[in-house]
Amino acid sequence: MDDLDQDEMMEYLSTQMTPERAILKVVEEANELAEKAIKWHNKPVDKKPSYEDLLEEFGDLALRFALFSLCLKIDLDKLGDGVEERVDNKLKQLYIYFKGKEAK
Ligand SMILES: [Mg+2]
Repeated sequence: MDDLDQDEMMEYLSTQMTPERAILKVVEEANELAEKAIKWHNKPVDKKPSYEDLLEEFGDLALRFALFSLCLKIDLDKLGDGVEERVDNKLKQLYIYFKGKEAK
C-alpha cells in the first residue's frame, strides 16, 4: 500500500462514488467531528474523547471534503479564491465580536 500514490488513489476513489454519495459522507464525518467536539467540551475529564480522537475526525472530514471536491471537479485552490471575500467578512465579524466582548 505504501507505494500507492495519494493523488492516484484520490482520483480513483472520486470515480467510485456519485457527488450525492460523496456529500453525504462529508456530512457523516462532520457529524462525527461535531459529536466528538461536543463530548470533548461537555464530558467529565475521564470520559472526554482524546485530542487524537478529534484529530482523527478532522482527518476523516478533510479526506471526505477533498474527495467530494474531486467528484465535482472543484479545484480546492481555486475554491479558496472564490470564498476569499466570505472569509474576509467572517473574520472581521468575529474580530469585532470578540473585541466587543473584551471591552465590556
Ligand atoms: Mg470518522
